[in-house]
Amino acid sequence: MYDYIIVGAGFFGSIFAYEANKRGKKVLVLEKRNHIGGNAYTKKIENIHVHYYGAHIFHTKDEEIWKYINQFTKLNHYINSPIARYKNEVYNLPFNMNTFSKLFNVFTPKEALEAVEKERSIYKDIEPQNLEEQALKLVGKTIYEKLIKGYTEKQWGTKATNLPAFIIKRLPLRFTYDNNYFNDPYQGIPENGYTEIFEKLLKGIEVRLNTDFLANKEMYLKQTNKVIYTGTIDQYYDYIFGKLQYRSLRFDHQLLNMENFQGNAVINYTEYEIPYTRIIEHKHFYFQIEGKTVITYEYPKTYVDGDDPYYSVNNNENMKVYEKYKEHAKNDNKVIFGGRLGSYKYYNMDQVIKEALNLATKELK
Ligand code: UDP
Repeated sequence: MYDYIIVGAGFFGSIFAYEANKRGKKVLVLEKRNHIGGNAYTKKIENIHVHYYGAHIFHTKDEEIWKYINQFTKLNHYINSPIARYKNEVYNLPFNMNTFSKLFNVFTPKEALEAVEKERSIYKDIEPQNLEEQALKLVGKTIYEKLIKGYTEKQWGTKATNLPAFIIKRLPLRFTYDNNYFNDPYQGIPENGYTEIFEKLLKGIEVRLNTDFLANKEMYLKQTNKVIYTGTIDQYYDYIFGKLQYRSLRFDHQLLNMENFQGNAVINYTEYEIPYTRIIEHKHFYFQIEGKTVITYEYPKTYVDGDDPYYSVNNNENMKVYEKYKEHAKNDNKVIFGGRLGSYKYYNMDQVIKEALNLATKELK
């Protein structure tokens, strides 16, 4: 008999497992894939830690979370400064003085603000009901059309007018020549890749890979006091209230016999006609110069059964369905849901860690 069977060896599951094990609980971790780490998993190819399920850049405002993660790894000084390519134009992200000067031929913050104001003031009285309106209100038409619309519509597979406004609040607007994508004071990439963190978290804990909990749900439920479930909540309950929507991705990894393919870790392709959203060149996350290079094309994809779900689609309709599952789960004292999928939230890694630590504090008295 286990105290906890934890389903999913990503950040939420692995941190809860670590905290429970530390407090003397008997835990078992089940992982469907053939490796630990969830989507943060990195695989070493040609001496490069390849972010196997897309770029993961660790960043947080929370000093406690920063200290926590630093127990398990040394993070390097990488600062996320993605480049956007639109047709044959190249811009810095996030939208900052470098971007404005290229777009509007301006040099000072005052000139840049005037140029942006001129475009966005047209929308100043609208209360944004969707992503398109939110973006126009924040940055005006030129930036929206060159740098946001195409990228967003291919990432989410739907018109920007069908998307909730909050997604775009993740893009800051800055009147300094500063290409740091995030505002958080703590940022970096684990020097030895992410997988090492999970090896440390799960050290001494029974982990079964290639194991699908749902294929033997009743059996596992008899073997544990509680389940910590980090997969999708709708599938756990056999879709009794209908299916939640997710967005999926497809990654095409390529090992190239050259030193430097694109000169930056992340380049976003913001025009709709190019089917991938970004190309990652992993060695630039680690300031590596010599040797071959590994690049990854990231293609957004409609989620169908059997795919990996990457993003929850948090529109009003889906949230109503999710609330039903959440209510149902409240009356089910055998299971606790968490993580990006279990909580149906667009979480960053630090938020998932926080959620897992909060649960550990509450649950493991
Ligand atoms: N976005 C955009 N242009 C870009 C990058 C991002 O319009 O070049 C928008 C887009 O709507 C996207 C959102 O910002 O869905 C969040 O993007 P980010 O890269 O921060 O998200 P991630 O997928 O890395 O969590």
